[in-house]
Amino acid sequence: MDQYQKAAEIIANSKTIVAFSGAGISAESGIPTFRDPGGLWDQFDPDEIGTTGGIIATVMRKPELIRDFFLQTAVIFEQARPNPGHFGLKALEELRLLKAIITQNIDNLHQEAGSSNVIEVHGNLFRARCLNCGRKQQLNKQELLARLKNFFAAAPADFEIMNLVQLLPRCPNCQGLTRPDVVMFGEQVQQMPEAFAQAESCDLMLVLGTSGVVYPAAAIPCQAYDRKAKIIEINPTDNYYNSISAVYLPAPSGQAMPKLIELVKDLL
Ligand SMILES: [Zn+2]
Repeated sequence: MDQYQKAAEIIANSKTIVAFSGAGISAESGIPTFRDPGGLWDQFDPDEIGTTGGIIATVMRKPELIRDFFLQTAVIFEQARPNPGHFGLKALEELRLLKAIITQNIDNLHQEAGSSNVIEVHGNLFRARCLNCGRKQQLNKQELLARLKNFFAAAPADFEIMNLVQLLPRCPNCQGLTRPDVVMFGEQVQQMPEAFAQAESCDLMLVLGTSGVVYPAAAIPCQAYDRKAKIIEINPTDNYYNSISAVYLPAPSGQAMPKLIELVKDLL
C-alpha cells in the first residue's frame, strides 16, 4: 500500500494524536538548524553564543560578534512564517484528532499557525522569564525584534550585557530583570512532565523533522511507543526512529502534511 494512504488510515483511525516536532519543520520556514552546513552555526560558535556564560564573556571580548549574531538572527526570525507543515498540524487539531504538539523549537511558529496546545520543551524565544520570581510573560515578537535591530544598528562598540538585558521588559509582578525563556546549552529542559504525560496518553505520535539526537526530548517518541502508541515519522533526511515507526514518509513536513490532510479528510 502507498505509504501516504497507510499513514492517512492510521491517522483517521486514531483517537488521540500528539505531534513531536523538531528543527526540520522550522528549517522549512527559513530558520537554520545547528546541523545545516554553511549556515549560521558555521559562523558562530555555540560555546560563545549558546550559553548565558558564553554570551556574557563574548559581549566583553567580542561585542561585534554578538551584534552580528543578533542582527542576523533578528532578520531570520522576522521573516520566518509558519509553513504548510505547521498549518497541517493546526488542521488536524480542527479535525479534533490532534490533542497537543510537543516541540523542541523555540520560534513560536506552531502558535502563529493557530495551534492551541503547544508544549515547548526548549522554551520560547519570545517569552521573558523573571530572574527573581520566575514569572513568564509573552512578548510581542515584531516589537522585540525591532527593538533589538534598532539597538544594534546604533550600538556603541563597547555596549555591555546590561544593555542587552534592558531590551527585555521588567517583570510585571516584581519589577525584576528578565531573560529570554529559552533553554540554553547545559540548562534544564522545560515542561517534561507535561510532555511525557501527553506521550503516554496518545495512540499515535506524529514525529516531524527531528533527528532524535537531542536528549532528553528525543526519548519522547520512544516513551509513546512503549505505551503502545503508533509512530509516524516525517523527515526528508532519514528514518531516525526506524526501529519504532509504523510508517516513514521521506519528505519535508510542508509537503507531507497537506497531502496527508487531504487523504485523512476523505476517510473521515
Ligand atoms: Zn518577577
